[in-house]
Amino acid sequence: MPVIGQGTWNMEREPELAMDALRYGVDLGLTHIDTAEIYGDGAVETLVGRALHNVRERVLLVSKVDPARASRDELIKACEQSLRRLRTEYLDVYLLHWLSAFPVAETVAGFDALCAAGKIRNWGVSNLDEVKLAEFLKVAGPERICCNQVMHHLGQRSIEHSLVPFCHGHQVALVGYSPFGAGAFPPESPGGNEVLSEAAHALGASTRQVALAFLILKSGGFTIPKASRRRHVEDNAAAASLELPAEAVARLDQAFPIGPSHPGVPIW
Ligand code: NAP
Repeated sequence: MPVIGQGTWNMEREPELAMDALRYGVDLGLTHIDTAEIYGDGAVETLVGRALHNVRERVLLVSKVDPARASRDELIKACEQSLRRLRTEYLDVYLLHWLSAFPVAETVAGFDALCAAGKIRNWGVSNLDEVKLAEFLKVAGPERICCNQVMHHLGQRSIEHSLVPFCHGHQVALVGYSPFGAGAFPPESPGGNEVLSEAAHALGASTRQVALAFLILKSGGFTIPKASRRRHVEDNAAAASLELPAEAVARLDQAFPIGPSHPGVPIW
């Protein structure tokens, strides 16, 4: 599975551009598509469905349930609505968007029923720390939770303290979101981050490519940048083959330190 995917948050703001970018990304190998029912109140799932229905079988399609709907029966209903908007009969992965107030067993029962009905192939979670993830693992059993999607960018690396090793130890894939800090990325030089710019220059790469390669290396998992422009999609796709020399990694580690460990998962 390609380590770099495509996020879709806010794509409803420029739907035509975004649909073109998504299709272009799939052609370039960015076949992991991440969306959610809450994005644009369903409008993003609708545009993803329109963009990708001709290439559905080439795509790993991920959507997320609103935690307010994470009871067994409501979760099934939410998934069926997502499937209609996405114009598909199944999701490759269905995630709980963040921790819900429903008992874990309720939510797991919903995911199980959807798997049994062939409506989803795998399920996972998002924004869960290791304590909450352990609760889900206890209820669901080992190797049932395919991934945990959490924030991971140059300015927010706190998952690397304990969540990353915990996920690896329990065969839960780590998917990092907002790899460019949702818009808060160091500007290109002059005025940007010198270490990042130097690494990019030395490798003949862009600073964002260096960031993606660094994040993948640090999480041992996946990253899902959002791009509504072809030139951005192209830039991101090429990062998958970028190899960072150990010296560059060490300098980036210093320039963008992992920072202190906090309880819970970062949300910014
Ligand atoms: P992001 O990917 O960190 O940043 C997106 C911004 O970066 C957009 O403005 C985009 O521009 C720009 N960009 C992308 N590639 C670029 C490039 N190569 N060069 C220059 N600019 C570039 O932001 P995000 O949307 O917060 O995170 C990515 C995805 O993670 C989301 O879309 C969503 O699918 C997922 N996510 C999940 C959660 C969760 O709770 N599970 C939370 C947040 C995000 P254009 O769009 O103009 O091309």
